Amino acid sequence: MLETVAKGFKAARNKLKGRTEITPEVVDDALRDIRVSLLEADVAFDVVKRFVARVREKAVGEVVETKVETKKGLVKVTPQDHFIKICHDELEALMGPVDTSLKVNGRGATGVMMVGLQGSGKTTTAGKLANRFLKDGKKPLLVAADIYRPAAVDQLKVLGQQLDVPVFHQAGLAPPELCRRAMEEAARTKRDVVIYDTAGRLAVDEPLMQELEDIKKTVAPDNILLVCDAMIGQDAVRTAAEFDRRLALDGFILTKLDGDARGGAALSIKEVTGKPIKFLGMGETLDRLEEFRPDGLASRILGFGDIVGLMKDFEQHVDEQQAEADAQKLLSGDFTLDDFVSQIRLVRKMGPLGELMEKFPLFGELPEGFQFDEAALGKIVAIVDSMTRAERQRPDLINDGRVKRVARGSGRSEKEVKDLLKQYNTMRGVMKQIGDAPGLLSRLPGIKQL
Ligand code: GDP
Repeated sequence: MLETVAKGFKAARNKLKGRTEITPEVVDDALRDIRVSLLEADVAFDVVKRFVARVREKAVGEVVETKVETKKGLVKVTPQDHFIKICHDELEALMGPVDTSLKVNGRGATGVMMVGLQGSGKTTTAGKLANRFLKDGKKPLLVAADIYRPAAVDQLKVLGQQLDVPVFHQAGLAPPELCRRAMEEAARTKRDVVIYDTAGRLAVDEPLMQELEDIKKTVAPDNILLVCDAMIGQDAVRTAAEFDRRLALDGFILTKLDGDARGGAALSIKEVTGKPIKFLGMGETLDRLEEFRPDGLASRILGFGDIVGLMKDFEQHVDEQQAEADAQKLLSGDFTLDDFVSQIRLVRKMGPLGELMEKFPLFGELPEGFQFDEAALGKIVAIVDSMTRAERQRPDLINDGRVKRVARGSGRSEKEVKDLLKQYNTMRGVMKQIGDAPGLLSRLPGIKQL
């Protein structure tokens, strides 16, 4: 995801690499790459212009080599680091701040009204939100108010069955009346959240907007969320602005970001409408909804992965303490091949590999177009399984003779064994670097003030 934007920032970073001083010309040169990739990614033109101007203003003159005092002593901050930090902060400011919590109704059930164009992922996302509420111990009620598309009602019923969440629908009612009855049903059956799945159209039209306004008036939902398809780029932003004008939205859920290389909508929507993205849809299944974290997305765009996001994924699959211990170990560079393989096993449980790997800091260093190969993971596990316990704990013990033996034992080639060791060492090095200099991830108080 977001490869197009990431490409420009990577090129810019490379231009600044190794320099101790940065002239305005060099900054402009680097910004040119960024500008082109933002436009290619379908970020709105004005947004690009303002973003580039802000980075330029902060970067020129500021970007020199300095040292900052940290808990680990003096750390050198290169002009490249400064520049990246400025880009990071500006990207974060572009997309945030975001409060991902939803407004809660103090008196009765909390209402969440989902609106959006047809095919944006509204019904699926209604199910994903219900799933989220369930996990928080809430009792949601789903309301099938898209009466024009019979399949939408059935689709919501199927999702409700999967989640064991009731779905309210009564044939023959106009949507506002249907929603009003759903509210009564929620009160009667003591549900505490009501999620209204409303009708969508292929494009914004007056009857649709009127109907949505009527529903809003009738049920006074606590939250109105627009579901937008990230793949349609600037069209999503235009749609967002129109819906916001009519309904005064609380925020957006951007779907299909998993398949979107460009990501223009993610970067423009807040700046254009003033309303934040609250969640990201990252896949078709009900667990693929993430809270939107602008700092995480900014880090990913800059090629530094998203350790916090990664840890959140971990936490869904392992207990919190374990995840924290693992994170510490990863960042200290002190993890063994056993840890490497247990992380791989965990990762395989956590979702599509390519997407997860994008959250690894290593990802920014990978060649363009690099594809993660799921089968390769099986090979890695086989190779590590053929090592002795001592070798797995201390991979530096593995000399050529041992490489031969491990290759024979696992049925892989010697080159594959060596490649694995190299990969492990690189990963350990990168993790350690990040653990030692978290400034790049803007978590170092000294750098935060720069
Ligand atoms: P609606 O017409 O707005 O209710 O859209 P649907 O919920 O029926 O979704 C349309 C299509 O998009 C379906 O095939 C969904 O599986 C798919 N979809 C929804 N959200 C996501 C997402 O976050 N990622 C991906 N890849 N597909 C999604």
